[in-house]
Amino acid sequence: MNTYTCKCNNTLHFENSQCVSCLREVGWCPECQGIRALEPIDGTSYTCLNCNTQLRKCTNYAVHQVCNRCVHDEGEHTHEFCDYCKFNDVIPDISNPKNKERWYLIEVAKRRLLYNLDILKLPYGTAAEGFELPLSFDFKEDIVVSDPSGSGTIEEKVYTGHADGKITINIAEADPVEREKLRVDFGEPHRTLIGHFRHEIAHYYWQLLVLGKCEDSFKQVFGDHENPSYTDAMNSYYQNGPKPNWQTDYISAYATMHPWEDFAETFGAYLDMVAVLDTAEHVALTINEPIENSGNELLNMLQRYELLGIKINEMNRTMGLLDLVPEVFTAGVVRKMQFIHWLVKKSSMLLRMPAQQTVGA
Ligand SMILES: [Zn+2]
Ligand SMILES: [Zn+2]
Ligand SMILES: [Zn+2]
Ligand SMILES: [Zn+2]
Repeated sequence: MNTYTCKCNNTLHFENSQCVSCLREVGWCPECQGIRALEPIDGTSYTCLNCNTQLRKCTNYAVHQVCNRCVHDEGEHTHEFCDYCKFNDVIPDISNPKNKERWYLIEVAKRRLLYNLDILKLPYGTAAEGFELPLSFDFKEDIVVSDPSGSGTIEEKVYTGHADGKITINIAEADPVEREKLRVDFGEPHRTLIGHFRHEIAHYYWQLLVLGKCEDSFKQVFGDHENPSYTDAMNSYYQNGPKPNWQTDYISAYATMHPWEDFAETFGAYLDMVAVLDTAEHVALTINEPIENSGNELLNMLQRYELLGIKINEMNRTMGLLDLVPEVFTAGVVRKMQFIHWLVKKSSMLLRMPAQQTVGA
């Protein structure tokens, strides 16, 4: 993640909606692609003080203050939502003020996710754009409704997950107390909103990039996803726990449940690595140690990630915080990461191809 500079020279961060120094409003400019100071023109329009483009705030910014992105001002044809909010199908019930705060935290994590996908040039799109597997988000809470028999109340539980392009997040995950309790209950080294998004988007990419396209290669690396079935695998996991000595071949205990979860956990770790290396580069956190394996791009990235991880883990331990990089990348895990790296490169190359063909024609 990059940091940006205000008109007043103060540093701006990806989450900012106001400069803490000059108090100007700031937001993401879709034209010059960064967090920029905004000069108000009237009640609805602004000028980007970096590129002079006329902008309006995304409705989720202007009305709800949970977004900080702008759209091009096109008068009455101006898009209501920004390039990232247009994927929201269901938003939390904000008549409850607690949900507003949760929604804000969810949007912060969602923007980081989509930025991550953009730097990797991974494809995603909406139904309105005719995208092959439309992506959408539902942010919902468990609801307690009256039991029709009148014997009390039943709870409608919302499960965080992915189905056919739709990512559902139970907004209780935005509550740090609830989330930490679940993290300890499940014995996880991390449990974060951005982690949930990175895991669920992996299921999306399995459906978009692997299903019916390279399932045989997938099976060779992650195992047969059709046998046992997902339901049988899940029941067995919750009855018997993770496979013994899972650390040899899996990134996490949960990854042992089924090849789909193995893919999602490994893909999530890959996105963690890409995001950490991107931020390290932008904030000039450098590695002095020589990097081996420079001929292999993934091994090179992993080595930089591990060296950085050792240092930052030590810093975190100094403050009594959780490790930034808790994973161990064994040969078995690296083999799976190689598959994901290949898949990401392949899909971003496919993305660039039509543009090159147009130039040739
Ligand atoms: Zn400023
Ligand atoms: Zn601009
Ligand atoms: Zn927005
Ligand atoms: Zn999953």
